[in-house]
Amino acid sequence: MTYSIQPTASHFIDGDYVEDISGTPIPVICPVSEKQIAIVYSATPAIIEQALAAASRAQGEWAAMNGTRRGRVLRRAADIMRERNYDLSVLETNDTGKPLQETLVADATSGADALEYFGGLAGSLTGEYIQLNDDFVYTRREALGVCVGLGAWNYPTQIASWKAAPALACGNSMIFKPSEQTPLCALKVAEILFEAGAPAGIFNVVQGMGEVGQALITDPRVAKVSLTGSVPTGRKVYAAAAAGIRHVTMELGGKSPIVIFDDADLEDAVGGAILGNFYSSGQVCSNGTRVFVQSGIKEAFLSRLSERIKGVKMGDPLDESVNFGPMVSKHQMEIVQRFITKGIAEGARLVAGGKRQGDVGYFLQPTVFANVTDDMAIATDEIFGPVMSVLDFDNEDDVLTRANATDFGLAAGVFTNDLTRAHRMVAGFDAGTTYINTYNIAPVEAPFGGSKLSGVGRENSKAAINHYSQLKSVYVGMGPVEAPF
Ligand code: NDP
Repeated sequence: MTYSIQPTASHFIDGDYVEDISGTPIPVICPVSEKQIAIVYSATPAIIEQALAAASRAQGEWAAMNGTRRGRVLRRAADIMRERNYDLSVLETNDTGKPLQETLVADATSGADALEYFGGLAGSLTGEYIQLNDDFVYTRREALGVCVGLGAWNYPTQIASWKAAPALACGNSMIFKPSEQTPLCALKVAEILFEAGAPAGIFNVVQGMGEVGQALITDPRVAKVSLTGSVPTGRKVYAAAAAGIRHVTMELGGKSPIVIFDDADLEDAVGGAILGNFYSSGQVCSNGTRVFVQSGIKEAFLSRLSERIKGVKMGDPLDESVNFGPMVSKHQMEIVQRFITKGIAEGARLVAGGKRQGDVGYFLQPTVFANVTDDMAIATDEIFGPVMSVLDFDNEDDVLTRANATDFGLAAGVFTNDLTRAHRMVAGFDAGTTYINTYNIAPVEAPFGGSKLSGVGRENSKAAINHYSQLKSVYVGMGPVEAPF
């Protein structure tokens, strides 16, 4: 296979690119130029069958290989991914519109971290030994089988790698379906894994919309589905998986709180709120879009935030000095615009932004609302765009109750210099991923995931191993078998 920056066909199955132009065409639109940069074709039933057959055929032999050998493949893939970081980042930037400044450090590099981390763990995956007088039990940690990964459009390389790495480390095979908005980068992940030595069929990518995902997760050969997506999609995927009692990991949406106390370091708090609202133009699931600011620091916070927002540079995201990109699509831009209009209509005070920038490209200004109340749509709904809601508060008990008064529970953060209060707050947050004096960092070594409607299961860290493997108990009898008759 010769190396090219663009994937050469729509699907990657059984170790090679595969095309079937009888599938529905899906144009890939660059959100900066609004021009078509590629076209992929939705998987036909024949393509879906090919992927399922390849993944089921290849899985047993891969699982039977010792973990160190599987790990070596993943670590080699990590090295290749790092070597190609620049090209992969350019592709990711063209596909998603995210600035190259971001994609160079947060996409393929994060994918490589996951491959390296789980590659390192693969050789040490074991069961346990349980002594029972003379008898004993040992457990075997076994792969689940064929896993399906479904990805959102915001971090295509990262999402594909975060799912592939623990799945493959545990001896599973995977069929990954990227979002139809950003279908290109997962194909490169498949290509790299194959080049690194993953047997044909171990990691496959097929394109398509929700119905392709449904066809995959309802197939009896599939043991598990891991979705990164919205809550409404989560409900559908979870329900479909339930029919076959399949394992699930659900990484869903959020409306996370960041709580800033009067005694917080102002620069850190403003920096955290910027990272938690405007990185990737706000298209991040764990964003802290409800920023609760204590009354004593509120004006200083808003004024410093408004100053720092002047440092936003929009433009060609391939220019490495550009630090703010467009929305992924016209559709997403319009959703966010509707929320901004609603925020104004509901009486929130527009402190910054609020408008589209330019006529070409789906650029929206970073937007800050103050005087937001808990019941406004901008404070209750996941917007998935660059819109920060600043809410006022006075005391700790009250703000914790309000921070938790949401059906979501993905992330939460607190900024304070009071050590005991910081730990009290994170203990009280109903969220899976919490932060003290920082925000939105997701290293592979730490578990990541949500509570309540934000999800089930954890990605990253040793915790992910439990979601991609199962234990088989082996009871060994050492004495005579005592039966009642
Ligand atoms: P969607 O929920 O729309 O889609 C997620 C994936 O599921 C896509 O590949 C989609 O295909 C597929 N899909 C849609 N419907 C079905 C179905 N009925 N059966 C099977 N698959 C289906 O999410 P978005 O792509 O819009 O991403 C944004 C959402 O993702 C936000 O809510 C965000 O918070 C969440 N997210 C969560 C993260 C986390 O780790 N917790 C991280 C990143 C994002 P297609 O779109 O091609 O039709």
